[in-house]
Order: sequence, then C-alpha cells, then structure tokens
Amino acid sequence: MLTAVVFDADETLLDLRPAVTAGLVTVLDEMRRRTPDAADVTLAELESDWGAVFGELSAAPVLEIRRAALARSLARAGLDDHLDEIAALFFARRFALTRPFPDVPPTLAALRTRYTLGFATNGNSRAERCGLAGEFAFEMYAHENGLPKKPAPEFYAAVVATAGVPAEQIVYVGDSWEHDVVAPRRAGLRSVWLNRYGLPRPAGLTPDAEVATLADLPMVLSELATGSADRVDVGIELGG
Ligand SMILES: [Mg+2]
Repeated sequence: MLTAVVFDADETLLDLRPAVTAGLVTVLDEMRRRTPDAADVTLAELESDWGAVFGELSAAPVLEIRRAALARSLARAGLDDHLDEIAALFFARRFALTRPFPDVPPTLAALRTRYTLGFATNGNSRAERCGLAGEFAFEMYAHENGLPKKPAPEFYAAVVATAGVPAEQIVYVGDSWEHDVVAPRRAGLRSVWLNRYGLPRPAGLTPDAEVATLADLPMVLSELATGSADRVDVGIELGG
C-alpha cells in the first residue's frame, strides 16, 4: 500500500536552471552598471563561482552557498562591499522566475485524490514563492527545525515522522540518484527516479520505478501499489 508521495523540489518540480541563469544575468548587468571594471567579467565566470565554493560549503544552507558564490563574483570587479544589495537583486529575480515544470500541476491534481503529498528539499525554493502555494500537506526545508540536508538518514526519518505513516508506504520522487533514490531506499522508503534527460542509470541499485516525465507518475504508482509490477519503467529505453 502507498499512502504518501513526497517530492524533491529543484529540478524535479521546479525548473530552476533558467531562473538561476536569469538571476546571474541580472547580477552581471548590475555589476557593469556600477563599475567599468566589470566589463570583462562573463556569465560563465559567474556560473563557475557556484562550483568553486560548493565543495567547501556543501553542508551549508543554499542561501549561504549562493551568497559566497556571489561574493566571489563581485570580487572580480572590486564590488566586494555591495553583496547585500546585489544578492537581493539575484534572489528577487531567481524566485520571480522559478516555476513548476508543465507536467507538475496536472500530476499533483491527479495524485492528491489518492495520496498525501509532501515537499522535502535541501534547497531554498519555498513552495509559495515558486508557484506551488497550498499544493502540499507538508513542506520540509533542510536547516529548518534542525533538519539536516539529504542524504543524511535523519532527513528521511523526519519525512517519515511528518508523513505519519510507515516508511514503506511512502514514495520519494526526485531527479538526484544519490539523494532521491539511493538514500530514501536505505531509509526504508520507496523511490521513483525522475530522469527527464535520459541519463544512463547508475549501477548498483534499481529504483522502484523510473519515469521520464511526472505525467507518468499516477499510473506508475497505481501499478506499484497494487503489486502488479515489482518495478516499472515508463518512457525509458533500456539497454541503450
Ligand atoms: Mg533535485
């Protein structure tokens, strides 16, 4: 029996990448407006600043990682003292443009009639700021109420406790193999890997199901729940 479906946010429900890129374009425009020293700074450099700080800060709140990346970007043009204002511009743009993928609203509407829906993220995409207000029975954000980041086992234990049903009745759905498939399974949940871009499936573990679009989720969950399939693949070309 399946009673709860819990979703990862970024790149699963929310099309984050275009919003982040637009936010960085805004930052670059503002840097150039403020100083000629930013004339040679590129968008690629701003994008690379996230990767440059992520390793050291991966356990930190996403807001903090983004501020560190922006600080690095501003230092490229001697704008170190302008972090607060320019970070505010970035986040305003990023949240204004972060919206659900087109398959999300109809899928949530279809699932809501049968399952408790949850939202559980490592990131800072607040559901209400990203076009998903009121869609979920519960929302969980890492670093709030002591919640550690995925893939900490305590993250999934908190999901189970919040859902209020046994772990095996919960399906976790997400795009990250490590965070949304491997770690939830280790915690006793079931998992559906959302593979929007046809990536090769990593070795070692088989998810309960793999889908290329969330539109297939209602059917896949029905099949899993009724035990008509040990696992389900939809829209996936195997063996390629
Ligand atoms: Mg994700």
